[in-house]
Order: sequence, then C-alpha cells, then structure tokens
Amino acid sequence: RQSRRPDYSELYELMTRASDYYQEQLKAAPDAPQVINYLKQRGLDGQTCKQFGIGFAPRGWDNLQNLLATSDEKEEQLIKTGMLVENEESKKRYDRFRDRVMFPIRDSRGRIIAFGGRVLGDAKPKYLNSPESPIFHKGRELYGLYEAKKNNRSLDRILVVEGYMDVVALSQLGISNAVATLGTATTLEHMQRLFKTVPEVVFCFDGDDAGRRAAWRALESTLPNMQDGRQARFLFLPQGEDPDSMVRQEGSEQFLQRIRDQALSLDTFLFKELEDGLDLHTMDGRARLTKLAQPYLSKLPDGIFRQLLLQKLSELTGLDSSRLEAHLSTDTEQKT
Ligand code: ATP
Ligand code: MN
Ligand code: MN
Ligand code: MN
Repeated sequence: RQSRRPDYSELYELMTRASDYYQEQLKAAPDAPQVINYLKQRGLDGQTCKQFGIGFAPRGWDNLQNLLATSDEKEEQLIKTGMLVENEESKKRYDRFRDRVMFPIRDSRGRIIAFGGRVLGDAKPKYLNSPESPIFHKGRELYGLYEAKKNNRSLDRILVVEGYMDVVALSQLGISNAVATLGTATTLEHMQRLFKTVPEVVFCFDGDDAGRRAAWRALESTLPNMQDGRQARFLFLPQGEDPDSMVRQEGSEQFLQRIRDQALSLDTFLFKELEDGLDLHTMDGRARLTKLAQPYLSKLPDGIFRQLLLQKLSELTGLDSSRLEAHLSTDTEQKT
C-alpha cells in the first residue's frame, strides 16, 4: 500500500510569494528609505540582503492578506503557515508580520518555510518568528544552512550562533559558514543534521547568561552525536558581545583567530563546568565529580572519544577507568 504524504506545495508557494512581496517592499514601501538606512547602519550591503532574501513587511494589518488571501482556501493556508493570525474573540484575521525587517527561513532544499521579523527600533518583542506549522519545525531547522552550503563549494566546519543578524553579519564579512538555531535550544536533530554536513561544529553564542546556558544545552545535544572523527568546540565571547558585534569590532581575521586560540574543546568545557566549585584535592570532591560526570559520559556513543574521556576522568579522580566504566550505567544524576 502506498503511503500518502501530504502535499504542502501550495504552502511553500505562498511562502515564496510572501517573501517576494517583502523583498519588493524594501524598495516600494513608504518606509523603505528608513529600512534601507537601518540595514546599512547594521553594516549590510545590498548583495548580502539579496543573498539572504531580506525584506520588509510594511505597517498595516492586511497587506499580505489582501495580496495572497485570494480565496477561502488560500486564507486557510495562510493561517496554517502562521502568516495570518486569527483574533480569538472577534475571529478577525490579520497579518502576523507588520513593520518588521523580514528574514526568510529556508529548509535544506531552499524552500521558504518560515520567517523571522525584527522591529526597526526598540519595540518589544524584538524578534517575531513564524509558529510551528506543517512545513516548519524549529527543532529541526537551522537558519542559514541552505545559504552556507550554497556559498561554499565544500564546507568543513560550521559555526552555530544564536541570531539571524549574527549569521548575516558574519557572511557580510566573509565568514559564510554560520547557522543559527531559531530562538530554541540546540536539539539532537540539529546536531544530527550538522554532523551529516560537516565533521566540525563550533558553537559561538552570545557573551551573556543566556548564551552560556545555550552552550551547555548544545553540549548536551552534542554528546550522543560524538562519533569518532567528529569535533565540537565552544567559543565564549566577552560579556555583552555577540558574533555580530564581535566580528564588526575586530574584523573577520581576528575573529577566526579567536576561534583558533580560544574555542574550548568539548572535554575541556565539560570538565570545566562539572569541576566548578569542587575541590579535587578532597576525596568527596573527586567522588562528586565522578557522580556528576556519569550521566554525560553515558550519553556518549561507544568509541575512542568515550574511552579518552573516561581516561581523563580517571586521571582527575584517581579511579581506575574500568571501574568508572562499570559505574556508568548505574547513576543518572543531572547537573543542576
Ligand atoms: P539584534 O542584534 O538584531 O539586536 P540579536 O540576534 O543579537 O538581535 P538576541 O536578543 O541575542 O538578538 O537573540 C538571538 C536570537 O534569539 C534572535 O535572532 C532570535 O532568533 C531569537 N529571539 C530573540 N528574541 C526573541 C523573541 N522575543 N521572540 C522570539 N525569538 C527571539
Ligand atoms: Mn543574547
Ligand atoms: Mn545577540
Ligand atoms: Mn546582536
């Protein structure tokens, strides 16, 4: 029996038309000069904007609706993709994205599946993203992955950052291998996808508490994917900086140098965090480290890397590594 896969071609089609419209509005909207000015001020030139399909959703509640909701069926499709929102009480429908710079999000085949929209000023929320939809699953998609593949004949590593602007700014300055998680934590699926594409992933989140938490979550999603031959590193930026601000400040050469000099290996980051606050001169400190490390080590697939990490833990604690191995499956206390 043939399995029926739902046909979403009309949803993709609508997203493409929306993106075309937003890109036209970068020229045609009454506010276009301010928008162009904003993009320039953020250091982006026309070519980069074009490459990423950056556009503008003009102010007004029904621009997209009037353009694309040409039948009841189309209107339902626009609701499905989240481009239109329905007011719960009045049931009135209106454009989700208004007066925002628009970043189209593509899947690995280049089809537009969602948008991120940024306000021009300081209004809240700063970013608005498409909701989950039949064609958009945040936990699976990475902003910029399609563009990174397209811009590089061969990719040997990928930089994972937090924001749209980080991806685009890095690309503007010649670092065209960055992707962003879409306002969510890095998932197992993200990591599977990344390691299918490249053997090395460098995480470079914002230099703030949220960024450091994001790095730890990324580590957790990376562990089960650490087959031998794969490499993951973690670059921590100075407080208050993000890749966008950093690369603008110091230029791309320095930024790449920073990755070479300062990015921590996975094992270094892991033990640095686990050892935090522990005194390894004491026996209970070493026991505590062993206990804390167990759930993380047991997430690793079998292989040399796992062996080496066990050995490192063994050196830190003085416990025999075969004993550590025996303990691994017995405890799963999480770091809090
Ligand atoms: P900018 O440089 O334009 O001010 P940023 O990318 O540095 O923005 P951050 O606050 O660091 O912004 O957020 C990083 C990413 O997290 C954003 O690119 C966006 O994908 C997501 N994000 C931030 N704020 C929100 C929000 N209010 N709702 C949904 N996603 C958000
Ligand atoms: Mn941040
Ligand atoms: Mn940021
Ligand atoms: Mn930023």
